[in-house]
Amino acid sequence: MVLPDDSTPPPGRGIFCNRTLNLRSVRAIGYDMDYTLVDYRVDAFERMVYAQARERLASEGWPMDGLDFDARMVTRGLVIDTELGNLVKANRFGFVKRAMHGTRMLEFTEQRDAYAQTLVDLSEPRWVFLNTLFSLSEGCLFAQAVDLLDRGALPRPFEYASLYRHVRARVDAQHLEGHLKAEIAAAPERYIVQDPEAPLALLDQKAAGKRLLLITNSEWSFTSKMMTHAYDRHLPGDMTWRQLFDVVIVAARKPAFFTERGPFFEVVDEAGLLRPLAGPLRAGGIYLGGSAAQVEHDLGVSGDEILYVGDHMFGDVHVSKRTLSWRTALVLRELEAEVSALEDYRPSELRLMVLMREKETLEARLSRARLALQRLHAGYGPASAADAASLEARVQDLRGQLLALDAEIGPLAKAGTEMTNARWGLLTRAGNDKSHLTRQIERYADIYTSRVSNFLHATPYAYFRSPRGSLPHDPGDHFTAYTVTP
Ligand code: IMP
Ligand code: MG
Repeated sequence: MVLPDDSTPPPGRGIFCNRTLNLRSVRAIGYDMDYTLVDYRVDAFERMVYAQARERLASEGWPMDGLDFDARMVTRGLVIDTELGNLVKANRFGFVKRAMHGTRMLEFTEQRDAYAQTLVDLSEPRWVFLNTLFSLSEGCLFAQAVDLLDRGALPRPFEYASLYRHVRARVDAQHLEGHLKAEIAAAPERYIVQDPEAPLALLDQKAAGKRLLLITNSEWSFTSKMMTHAYDRHLPGDMTWRQLFDVVIVAARKPAFFTERGPFFEVVDEAGLLRPLAGPLRAGGIYLGGSAAQVEHDLGVSGDEILYVGDHMFGDVHVSKRTLSWRTALVLRELEAEVSALEDYRPSELRLMVLMREKETLEARLSRARLALQRLHAGYGPASAADAASLEARVQDLRGQLLALDAEIGPLAKAGTEMTNARWGLLTRAGNDKSHLTRQIERYADIYTSRVSNFLHATPYAYFRSPRGSLPHDPGDHFTAYTVTP
């Protein structure tokens, strides 16, 4: 077991800060369970959801033979375009930077023709954001379904939007009908990634006086099995996960949990027997449903005294921030691979910066030579020291140098856009810019990190300070944008 000491965690295990957060002034920490407190093997979990939904579609006459789940086909943060049957990656302004129709990536010109006039605006029903790792099976299945529809292989007609709704309903059903959860509960070791540091991080927080809450959309029986499997073996003596939490809330119906005032029920036995809650929430209780408003009232904590930690960009982080001004932490499991890819890429990045500076210098020279020629031909402006022939030669020479530079810049920049996933690149970036996902993280997550156990290294007394934001006009070594010429 790793003890908190002076050793700094690997860069990808840091806690990154958008808005300054002093953990000392946080009195209660709420945790989501799935993909937050409990880390699943994405490939195994999503493959299972996919396989069950595929079976269901096959039973409806869909030709599903030969189709398989591909964990790399889509990533969190992509957006489904239900109108055109595409998956797109947008930057922070909503401009589409990459697109895939069915399972085929669009060429640059196809993408431009489809989206030059269109911004991704998640308030429109056309767009569906992939908020969590649970979205991967659905995204993959939808992309493959679009291929089937385009080939005329489906037993009845669909528009892309109704096709999406059909696939969504089948995936939804797997989460709700119980086979999936039964399968996972029967062999949790195949699905759960053990992290012995997470229970210790929670013990530290509890002993530091924080009230810990578990607020999950999962049902009681599943929650109990997953938490037992992931936590109990790492806790001291006979302690169980139940003793970590002041209050456990299952089937919370987030995001409605944060915005509405649903009633609480008390879970009165292990089998999940329910009784309506009379009176306030009590320490050590297990509850179902309810509302964040009542949690605030009964625990006597509110707004910025509560930190909520979850993996769902919208249901956990966006809504709790927007509705209740809770402090928020997003768990972004992919961050570790992302940070490590960025580190590996660092030498190329530095080389690119040098090349881009050279390119800017050459471009400025070229512009000046062209302007001198223009003035010479049109007969205005200050007299040029050079004649037309030497200016022409200079233009040609500079153009040649720029072409040579581009030949070196191109592959380096392309490699930069293919980090971690050749189709989609880094989750947090889109081209040179921040991705749409990053924009949401900035707006709604005060801090973000790859997993709950990273709090162990930070300690319950950490003071997270946001970096001073950089702006294009800041003095110093600014980062020049580079483009990959399509
Ligand atoms: P939480 O992350 O702990 O709040 O729990 C997420 C719960 O939502 C898990 O029980 C998932 O099985 C469930 N879930 C994930 N995706 C879907 C869906 O598309 N439809 C219904 N339930 C879902
Ligand atoms: Mg979750």
